[in-house]
Amino acid sequence: MFCRIVNGEIPSRRVFEDDTIVAFADVAPQAPTHVLVVPRRHVASLDDLHDPALAGRLLTVAAGLASTLGLGGGYRVVVNTGPDGGQTVSHLHLHILGGRQMNWPPG
Ligand code: 5GP
Repeated sequence: MFCRIVNGEIPSRRVFEDDTIVAFADVAPQAPTHVLVVPRRHVASLDDLHDPALAGRLLTVAAGLASTLGLGGGYRVVVNTGPDGGQTVSHLHLHILGGRQMNWPPG
């Protein structure tokens, strides 16, 4: 489904894009700031990410976005993976959550 967001078939509020990565606002935000960072090419989950360069790029973009989105006080990056991990969309995505105090354990 995120392939359709990446190629523009499904509208989204984009906050970043380059040749390999797109980031957009989550449709059901769980924090004042909730952005999803996804690779343009289809990677089903973290278990399928066999590309250290892309992994590094995803994390670097996430950190840069946290800064530009004003999350200087801190934020959380989450990668739900597989059924037990709570993954509901089979296209790798990093959640950036911020703008409120995060709790631990996450539940
Ligand atoms: P997961 O549960 O797989 O870790 O996260 C999937 C996320 O995608 C959820 O936070 C959900 O709100 C978000 N989401 C699902 N469908 C859409 C959509 O069509 N557009 C946007 N922007 N976010 C979506």
